Amino acid sequence: MSTEYRGIGYRRYVRDKTILRKKRISKAVYGLDWYKHDGQYSKGKIHCSCGLCKYGKKYGLPTIRDMRETSREKILLSDYRMI
Ligand SMILES: [Zn+2]
Repeated sequence: MSTEYRGIGYRRYVRDKTILRKKRISKAVYGLDWYKHDGQYSKGKIHCSCGLCKYGKKYGLPTIRDMRETSREKILLSDYRMI
C-alpha cells in the first residue's frame, strides 16, 4: 500500500520551487552560487551556522530576537498594569 497521495510530478515541483528560492536568496545576499550543483539547494542550507554567526546558540547570549521578545513582554506588562 502506498501512502503517497501526490505523484512524482508534485515532488519535482516542490523541489524545483525550493531550489529556485534558495538560489535567488544566495544570489541576492551573497552574490554567488552557494553550491556547485543545483540539486544541493533542495536539501542544503544557505546560511552560516558557525559560532560567530550563531552566538546565541553557542554561548547562550541574548540575540536581537530575544531582546525584541523581552521588550514586547515589557510593553504588554505595562499595558496590563494600566487597566
Ligand atoms: Zn558564520
